[in-house]
Amino acid sequence: MYKELTRALTPELTYLYFTVTSRCNAFCDFCWNWENVADAGKLYKEGQAIKRKELSLEEIEKLTLNLPKMLLVDLYGGEPFVREDLKEIIDLFAINCNTKYFSIPTNAYYTERIEKTLTHALEKYPQSFFRMAISIDGPEKIHNRVRKLKDGYQNAMRTVNMIAGLREKYPNISMSLNSVYNRMTQEAMPAFIEDMMELKLFDSISLGIVRGETYDPTLKEVSVDNYFALKKRIEGYKLLSNQPFSPMQKVMEERTKTIIERAIRGKNSQREFKCYGAKKFTLLDDQGEVFACEHLLEKSLGNIRDHNYNLQAVIDGAKAQQMRKAIKNKECDCIWDCAINTSNVFDPLGYPRLAVKTLGKMVKQIGK
Ligand code: SF4
Repeated sequence: MYKELTRALTPELTYLYFTVTSRCNAFCDFCWNWENVADAGKLYKEGQAIKRKELSLEEIEKLTLNLPKMLLVDLYGGEPFVREDLKEIIDLFAINCNTKYFSIPTNAYYTERIEKTLTHALEKYPQSFFRMAISIDGPEKIHNRVRKLKDGYQNAMRTVNMIAGLREKYPNISMSLNSVYNRMTQEAMPAFIEDMMELKLFDSISLGIVRGETYDPTLKEVSVDNYFALKKRIEGYKLLSNQPFSPMQKVMEERTKTIIERAIRGKNSQREFKCYGAKKFTLLDDQGEVFACEHLLEKSLGNIRDHNYNLQAVIDGAKAQQMRKAIKNKECDCIWDCAINTSNVFDPLGYPRLAVKTLGKMVKQIGK
C-alpha cells in the first residue's frame, strides 16, 4: 500500500484511461464519445467488420512493455466487452505494468463474456482490484430506450447478479451503479435509485450529470436543483463499501460534488481543481491517439504508432508540454468527475484537509 501511495505522489504518469474500442452495441444520445462510436459503426453487432484501425493485441503488448508501472487503468469504450480479447488486455497490464487497480465501465450486456473475463482476472491477479462500473440509466423501458439496446436492462441485471456472486467468492472486486442524469432519465431516476438500493447489490452509486458534447444536446435540459437533491440523498445511503479506502473515498466524492455543483451553478469564475491531465493521467484511444482527457479530443498529443508504441515519448513531447502549460494556466475547464477525483488523489496540498475530513467521517461511523 505504501508503495502505491508514494507512486501516486511521483510526477510520473500513473493513471491511464484507455478506450480499448469505439465499437458499441448501444448508441446513447448522451455519450461523450459518440462521434467515434458512430465512426466505428453504430449499434455494433457480433461479427461486424472492425471499421476503425483499432490497436491490435500485439500492439497493446508493445505499448504495455514500454509503459512504466501503471497503477490505475480504466478500460473503456465504446463497450469494452465487445472486444473478445479484453481478458488478454487485462493480462498485459497486470503482468507488464503491475496494474493494481482496474476500473471497467460497461453496459453489462455480455454476461457470459464478462463472467469468463472476471473469473480469470480475479483468480490470477489477487493483488489487483477490479472495480466494475455498471451503466444502468433507469427502469427497463427508459434504460433500453436511451441506450437503444433491446434487452439491455435484462442483460445488465443478469450481469449484476452474476458479479454479486463473484464478489462473495473474491475479495478484490467491487460493483458500482453508474447512471447518467439527463432530460430523459431525470423523472424516473429517484424511484429507480431507491429500487436499486433495495437490492443491496452495489458498493457505490455514481450519479453523473450529462456532460460534454452530446449527440442529442437537448438532453442537457435538466433540473439542476433536483439533481443535487438526489445526489445528497444518495450520500446518506448505507452501501456495501467493498472498496479500498472507503471513508476516504466518500470524502473525496463529496469534495468532487461540491466543485461540480459550484461550476454548474456558475459560482466559480475559474476552475477550482488542479488538473493533472497529460501529466499524471492521460487518455489513449482505440487507434493509438493520445489526449489529455475526454474533453479535448480535438487536440491530439500524438499517436503511439508514430512513437514505437512508447506512450511516455508522446507525454514527453512538445505538444504535451504545451498542453500541460495550458492546463496549468486553467485555459480549460470541465465537470469530469474522474479528473476532479484524481486531483484529490494526486494533489498533496489537499491531503491535510482530506485527512481531517476522513477522520471525522470514521469517528461518526464508529459512533453510529
Ligand atoms: S480540466 Fe477538464 S478539460 Fe481540462 S484537461 Fe483537465 S479534465 Fe480535461
